[in-house]
Amino acid sequence: MALTECPSCGKTISDKAKTCSHCGFGVGDASSEDLLRKKNFNKFKRQHSIQNQSMLAMLMFVSGFGFMYWGGTRPGDMQHNLAIACSVIGFIWYVINRVRLIFIKRAD
Ligand SMILES: [Zn+2]
Repeated sequence: MALTECPSCGKTISDKAKTCSHCGFGVGDASSEDLLRKKNFNKFKRQHSIQNQSMLAMLMFVSGFGFMYWGGTRPGDMQHNLAIACSVIGFIWYVINRVRLIFIKRAD
């Protein structure tokens, strides 16, 4: 018995199984064209969610930065520190999402 990857959820299943035991995807029924389409769709969904997250991260970075400059707070203030933390986290999150996107695009 050989193991293969479920084209729908990516978990390991037996290649004799007609349906995936994890997500119920009909492996046996699907043609290779269906499988490819499903795979591309999943990739697209993942890319889309990461793109949304990087937008959110960018927004966090910009608003944190904006608040730091125009929020009327001074260095040392609680709000000022929060704004700095917000922009730093936003920036790091953004970079992480960009890297994840590059890896997804490189995969197969
Ligand atoms: Zn599955």
